[in-house]
Formats: sequence, structure tokens, C-alpha cells
Amino acid sequence: MGKTRQLLDGNKIPADGFGVFLIPDDMVEDPVLSAIDIGYRHIDTASIYKNEQGVGKAIKRSGVHRDHLFITTKIWNDSQGRDRTRQSCLESLEKLNTTYLNCLLIHWPVPSRGLFIETWKEMIALRDEGLVKSIGVSNFNQEHLKQLIESTGETPVLNQIECHPWLQQESLRNYHADLGIATVSWSPLARGSLLEDAIIQSIAKKYQSTTAQVILSWHHQIGNLPVTKSVHPSRIKQNLESQIVLDQSDLNLIQSLEKGQRIGPDPNTMS
Ligand code: NDP
Repeated sequence: MGKTRQLLDGNKIPADGFGVFLIPDDMVEDPVLSAIDIGYRHIDTASIYKNEQGVGKAIKRSGVHRDHLFITTKIWNDSQGRDRTRQSCLESLEKLNTTYLNCLLIHWPVPSRGLFIETWKEMIALRDEGLVKSIGVSNFNQEHLKQLIESTGETPVLNQIECHPWLQQESLRNYHADLGIATVSWSPLARGSLLEDAIIQSIAKKYQSTTAQVILSWHHQIGNLPVTKSVHPSRIKQNLESQIVLDQSDLNLIQSLEKGQRIGPDPNTMS
């Protein structure tokens, strides 16, 4: 599985993930196959991406044994609640053509619906039945995590959050670290817009690397697990090979890029 990290429940997750957001179902097979050929073992999808079927076909075509892959999918907002959560999980299993998920996440907390605790309880049951190996959340803030853990005694193994040099999430990452929750970064390249940043470009020049490699190395160095998307094999390869060791001056420069700027919605208001 390449480089991995041990999760709270003892399962291992690859250090790098390949994301498929915004790739249509009929176009997702080739990029996922490329990613697996190049060496990615973690594929991150979601029921709302509507491409689980294509991902399932690519997994089958890859010829890589299912046990050597790590597949994540997510429960969409309108599937929260006991029965719908179970139904969503079963549909994802069928579309992905697999008997188990490595990781199932609550996609957004949607506090206005008040269903994430009930959803979480059903996910615990799905995990206990063996349909899911690990359960986690996405876009939860400290308060949402606290409520979840206090109500059920079950800590999510990971929280997949928007994180990149413009939105570094330092206090949430520290909270995760205290509880042993792994931080997975979504839009780790700020959906590509950070690649033109002058400071990142100057650091890339110093290491004779690409700007994507500087940013992804930063994610690894601060302890995050980035989930990156590209449809181009050459980029998929360079992203997986991001192993620069940034020095303290580089880390300080990247820290100075923080501006609280989101690419996606705010978890408190997303419905
Ligand atoms: P990323 O930060 O991964 O950026 C993707 C963009 O950057 C694409 O436009 C891609 O273009 C470009 N890109 C990637 N690598 C390179 C490179 N080496 N050089 C130049 N350009 C590059 O953004 P995403 O928003 O796609 O996030 C990644 C994944 O995170 C998603 O696919 C999804 O799995 C997950 N995610 C989860 C969310 C959640 O709520 N849990 C929300 C959003 C995303 P191209 O494809 O043309 O190469």
C-alpha cells in the first residue's frame, strides 16, 4: 500500500489519496486506472459525485487485489438519519461493486438538520456488521466533533476538511491531534489556484520541483493526508512523488500565506 498511517481503530490508510470530485461517471475510469497504475491506493469518492460506478469499474479493471486498495465514500446531506444512511451505504457498495468500504464519512455535519448523531450511530452499526472498516467525518468543526463523541463515545478516525496554505486550520488540526483523529486535506491545492502563488513558486524554484509538489509536501510535513485530484497522468505521477523536505524558513513562508480563504462552503451554514 506504499506509505501508510495507522488510524485510531488500528486500520491503515495510505498517506496519499486520489480524489474524483467533478469527474463525470463516464470519464472517471481512466484517471482512476492511471492513479492506481502510478501507485495510488486510496480512492476518495462520494455518493453525491455520482461517479461511484465508474470508480468501481476502474477498481475491477486495475487488477489490484481489493484488499490492497482503500476506498472512501460519503453519506450525502439528504441521506442523513438511520434508514437513509444504511440505504446510502448499501447503494454505494453496489455501485462500487465491492463487499466493503474502507472508510465511510458523513460528508457535512448540516447542523440545521440535527441528524448527524443518529447518522453516526447507524455508521457504528454498519462498521460493527463489517460492511465498513473505518468510520469518519468530513467538514466537522470542533463543536460538531465534541457533540458526536460525547453522545456516542465513538471518535471518528479521521476528519476530511478543506485545508491548504490559504486555510491552514491550525486550531482544528491541533484538536484532532489531541484526540488521535487523522486530518485529511481536501482541495489540498486550493483546487489548483495556489499553484500560481509567488511564494510557492519561489520555494519550488529552490527545490527544482513543481509548485504542486511543494504544497503536497507541506501537507505531509504538517501531518496531513492530502486527497488530490487530477485527470492528467503526468500530474497524477508528480503529485504522488511529492517528497520534498521543506526547511523551517520555507515552512514559515507558507505559514504566512494563511488568509482564512475557503474554496468550498462553510460547514456551519452548508445545508
Ligand atoms: P485539488 O486541490 O486537488 O485541485 C485539483 C485541481 O488542480 C484540478 O483542477 C487539477 O486539474 C489541478 N491539478 C492537480 N494536480 C496538478 C498539478 N500537479 N499541476 C497542475 N494542476 C494540477 O482540488 P479538489 O477540489 O479536486 O480536491 C481534491 C479532492 O478532495 C476531490 O477530488 C475530492 O475527492 C475531495 N473533496 C472533498 C470535499 C469534501 O467536502 N469532503 C470537498 C471537495 C473535494 P487537472 O485535473 O486538469 O489536472
